[in-house]
Amino acid sequence: MAGPKPALGAWQDPSAAPLVEIRNVTKTFGSHYAVDDVSLTIYPGEFFSLLGASGCGKTTLLRMLAGFERPDAGRLLIGGEDVTELPPYRRPVNMMFQSYALFPHLSVADNIAFGLRQEKLPRAEIRERVAAMLELVRMGDFAGRKPDQLSGGQRQRVALARSLVKQPKLLLLDEPLGALDRKLREHTQFELVNIQERLGITFVMVTHDQEEAMTMSTRMAVMNEGRIRQIGTPSEIYEFPSNRFVAGFIGAVNQFEGRVMEQRDDLLLVRSDVAGTELRVRTQQAVAPGTPVVVAVRPEKVLLTTEQPPPGDNSLSGSVEEIAYLGDVSIYHVRVPGGALVEAQLTNRARRAVAPLTWGDPAWIAWGADDAVALLE
Ligand code: ATP
Repeated sequence: MAGPKPALGAWQDPSAAPLVEIRNVTKTFGSHYAVDDVSLTIYPGEFFSLLGASGCGKTTLLRMLAGFERPDAGRLLIGGEDVTELPPYRRPVNMMFQSYALFPHLSVADNIAFGLRQEKLPRAEIRERVAAMLELVRMGDFAGRKPDQLSGGQRQRVALARSLVKQPKLLLLDEPLGALDRKLREHTQFELVNIQERLGITFVMVTHDQEEAMTMSTRMAVMNEGRIRQIGTPSEIYEFPSNRFVAGFIGAVNQFEGRVMEQRDDLLLVRSDVAGTELRVRTQQAVAPGTPVVVAVRPEKVLLTTEQPPPGDNSLSGSVEEIAYLGDVSIYHVRVPGGALVEAQLTNRARRAVAPLTWGDPAWIAWGADDAVALLE
């Protein structure tokens, strides 16, 4: 079953054949657009996440891939074959449900073997494949137990084994770690990625947890109100959000509203009243003077000092209003004269690194033109 590890970045290879093509798919419930004209391409070996808040349509999209919902418009292709009209059991797909949906009266081994028995495979083959799966998910010692004799994490592993044993080309996972507590969740994230890489099966996961999507995915799609707002690798989405929604949804961000005054090559000069000054931000787009724009900068990109920084791209003076000590990092909120409350995040590497600053202190914050992005929508 083990396949070669997929070449990273298949989505960047123009000759790569996609495994999943979602073409202009729409699904309505009554007058509500659960999924609204979504197009998406996923390549073999990817761990792809659909990320969004509750109700954004991610589960509906996953269920359409599985065949449990029929799109109102658009086509779904898997491995080049149009599967839009095919029932779930005719698709090379398996789905792992959030509830795990294990059979309570069957043992762990019988739960895993269930699908293979339905296919009437030879007994010896079933035994072999179930044994391989039990080993893969480290449940060999629990083969004879019933689901209610297992912990949540163990049940999750049985459900995973059961959905992988039929060797689908594509595994769909609906909030697979939702039932686990935080510690177990983090551990299981690594385990799941490990298994996915070893098997080379393409995973598409639905989650509302941005950290989970960031840690596990090769690429992810951020959804809102039935639409995809951005598709990219976790670092592309974090470093270069393409709109305000994505910037605000993933991680903390300072957003300064303003208007473009001038563009000098790839440098935008932005007048921002809330920042109380002119901001400089690097961009690849041509933007006309007068265009409203938001300059977005992550708290960890902001330098915080007691002394005026040397002349650079962006520096604002203000006063420290709030400090939160979070162990490994401290968060500072600095009020600037324009009225904005700017968040700066400092790593507490050296114990005294941030010692001089306290509530009410005057402080400077600074960042480079390359550390921020200009958002036009
Ligand atoms: P969650 O994380 O809460 O599961 P989601 O992003 O997966 O949310 P969906 O389950 O895809 O969202 O639902 C999208 C929208 O479609 C929601 O507003 C939901 O109420 C609606 N919806 C989903 N299934 C049905 C259905 N069978 N009948 C009517 N409305 C539905």
